[in-house]
Amino acid sequence: AHGRGEWRFFSDDMDARLAASLRLESALRSALAEGSQELQLHYQPICDARTGAPVKVEALLRWNSPTLGPVGPDRFIPIAEQSALILDLGHWVMNEAMRQVAAWRAAHGHAPVVSVNVSVRQFLHKDFELQLYSLLLLHGLPASQIELELTESVLAGEDEELQGLLARLRDAGWGLSLDDFGTGYSSLSYLARFRLSTVKIDRSFVRGVDQDARKRSLVRAIVSMGHSLGLVVVAEGVETEAERGVLLQEGCDQLQGYLLGRPAPAQDRPPTPAA
Ligand code: C2E
Ligand code: CA
Ligand code: CA
Ligand code: CA
Repeated sequence: AHGRGEWRFFSDDMDARLAASLRLESALRSALAEGSQELQLHYQPICDARTGAPVKVEALLRWNSPTLGPVGPDRFIPIAEQSALILDLGHWVMNEAMRQVAAWRAAHGHAPVVSVNVSVRQFLHKDFELQLYSLLLLHGLPASQIELELTESVLAGEDEELQGLLARLRDAGWGLSLDDFGTGYSSLSYLARFRLSTVKIDRSFVRGVDQDARKRSLVRAIVSMGHSLGLVVVAEGVETEAERGVLLQEGCDQLQGYLLGRPAPAQDRPPTPAA
């Protein structure tokens, strides 16, 4: 369309997408500005599979932009991850989660462990560990109040420095959870190689597990492997009673999903009394 022998890197469609993502990125930058109140954490319960009692909560980021309206994290996190913006966003999330935990502890004398999603780039940044401890100190919390949810892409690096960092964090009491398990590459070897505390079976294997023998076999294998390594096994995205029944039978320790509770703002999700 643009004449013979002419190369074009950007189609109009790509231009439009690039423009949209730049718009989103700049809107996100202003959301991070002091006092903007566009960002909020919602909390979703993670429950004991047998009793249904909530044992932890996962912090999930919400963004209500005055110009773009509500934007889901599946849309804006990948864009933030393309730049250093994810570092500021990650810091905001960690600070806000700890602030909430401290407020719960002050009001009720205790708080649930909060699982915080951490991006690869954030986790591998040289200042991450120091930042964690400054925030702990600022909010007066023990490391055991926070669990870091990592994806397999973090572990793909396989170097000694990474193993050392994970071991130090575990020794200091931080929970380390492997998120979206089963969706990455050489998942099973990661479980054995790194010192984690929890593995979360991805929603894609949970959805319809009661009607799919292959999914069920996979869940059984992950539970067995996880337990032999001393890990807590969580199934995420549990939506139906039928799924819950199978997951319980297959030995999952904890369940998370709309069936047990949707993500909600902190004021709607006060901590349950200590057991
Ligand atoms: P994720 O970490 O796998 O989080 C679980 C997602 O599944 C959440 O979507 C949650 O609302 C949704 N979910 C929970 N139960 C059910 C269910 O029963 N059925 C269905 N269909 N969905 C369920 P959400 O909140 O939209 O977050 C999407 C992704 O965005 C998260 O996936 C995570 O990868 C990322 N994310 C969210 N908050 C943060 C954050 O603070 N930092 C980082 N780095 N990533 C975040
Ligand atoms: Ca997660
Ligand atoms: Ca997940
Ligand atoms: Ca996910």
